[in-house]
Formats: sequence, structure tokens, C-alpha cells
Amino acid sequence: MSEEKQVKVHVDKVNKSYGDNHVLRDISLDVMANEVVVMIGPSGSGKSTFLRMLNQLEMPNSGLVEVDGYDISDPKTDINKVRENIGMVFQNFNLFNNYTVLQNITLAPVQLGKMTKEEADKRGKELLATVGLSDKADKSVNSLSGGQKQRVAIARALAMDPDIMLFDEPTSALDPEMVGDVLDVMKDLAKSGMTMIIVTHEMGFAKQVADRVVFFESGKIQESGTPEEVFNAPKNERLQTFLSKVM
Ligand code: ADP
Ligand code: MG
Repeated sequence: MSEEKQVKVHVDKVNKSYGDNHVLRDISLDVMANEVVVMIGPSGSGKSTFLRMLNQLEMPNSGLVEVDGYDISDPKTDINKVRENIGMVFQNFNLFNNYTVLQNITLAPVQLGKMTKEEADKRGKELLATVGLSDKADKSVNSLSGGQKQRVAIARALAMDPDIMLFDEPTSALDPEMVGDVLDVMKDLAKSGMTMIIVTHEMGFAKQVADRVVFFESGKIQESGTPEEVFNAPKNERLQTFLSKVM
């Protein structure tokens, strides 16, 4: 790679409708390598749809979506290869409850032939240490708290050694006392240089960690900028109203 900053996600004039519900309206956004972008905005504004589109869980009706240099709207693109490089963490963990913690982490890399069982176990244990759950490797997922489950979900995503991590409200389903531990893991990940796109209502976290904050409303990016610009000097009236409700 050259010295030039690498574009990891390139979205150009994307539109998405469900029936006559026009959910994404001419969205354009570039995310560079090592950048942390936090997406904020009211419920129903299209944030999840946008994230899911980057993973081809949703297809746009028009516009261009490139992830890791691949045009993911091109049928010739091997989406499974692209997905291997994108880790996704959801509000509700989506773990396999009948497996142990370590099995949840090793399953995909072994099944996809990325690692041997031994390599995956070793890597899985390292990842459990980084999310503060070394003692839980052989425990059933069912025995964990929500915050612990979410940290396992992050470790599981990292086991595939992704280039990009997407987070869709990772702390919204957690009891308040669990939120900090999960955000701390995400902060460490940001510091390590991971490219991250995060949907969250945790404004303090956004201020601290985001390189750029993007405000979604009614399917549009109404404003974006540094945390300083967006939180301290919002220009858009809808953003001002939104912030007055959440801060
Ligand atoms: P957000 O994550 O900002 O709350 P979403 O992207 O989940 O917003 O939803 C945006 C709009 O798209 C909402 O009106 C929602 O009802 C609609 N929507 C989302 N997913 C679907 C779907 N699978 N089918 C139909 N409508 C959907
Ligand atoms: Mg959502």
C-alpha cells in the first residue's frame, strides 16, 4: 500500500426503499482505514439499514457500495470473502447459546479453514484475555451476563481478523452497569487502529472515541463532522433538536 490513506468503505448516492418507505436517501459516505465513525440519530432514521448494507444483509436499490475495494453490488463479487473481513456486532449478541464461550469464538475460523482447531483455540484464548474474560473460556454462554456476552461477541468477530468492525447499538440491550466494560473494549480496539463504524446512543463515548460523527435523520446524513463540531456547534436544526433530547 502507498502512503495514501486507504478508503475502506465508499458509499456513493445510495438509495434504499422498503415498499414505499424510502429509508436511505442519497447517502454518500467514505470511511478511511483506521477511522472511527460514530453514527447517531433517532430510531427509524436508517442507521441499521445502512450498516446491514455494508455486509450485504440488505441490497441498495441504487448507488454504489464498495467495501475493502470490492463493489458489493456486483454479482461477481464473492460476498463471503468480503464478509470474512467485516466483523459485525449486534444489539442482541447473536451467540450460539448451546456452545461454550471458546467454541463460539473458534467455530467460524475453523469451519472456514482460516485456522486449525489448535490455532483457533490459542487465538480465542488471547482474545478472551483482551476482553477480560479469560476465566470464561469453558463456560456455557447461557451462564454469562449481557455485558459478558457482548464482549464474547466482540472477541468472536475479531477471531476472523477483520479489517473493519461494524457495531449496531452494542450496549443498548445491556443493564447500565455492564455498559462501561463493553465500551472499554471498544475504546481499546479503536486505539489499536481498527476501522470502526458504530451506531450508538452513548454520546459520551462518541465524543471520546469518534474521529467523525455522522447524524442520520429521515434516511439522510443531515450533518457530519468532528465530535467537537457536531456536539458543540451543531448547525442542522434537526441535530440541535436531537441533541437537546439525548444530552
Ligand atoms: P434505525 O436503525 O435508525 O432505527 P432502521 O434502519 O432499522 O432504522 O429502519 C429504518 C426504516 O426502515 C424504518 O422505518 C423501519 O421500519 C424500516 N425497515 C427496516 N428494516 C426493514 C425490513 N426488513 N422490512 C421493512 N422495513 C424495514
Ligand atoms: Mg437500528
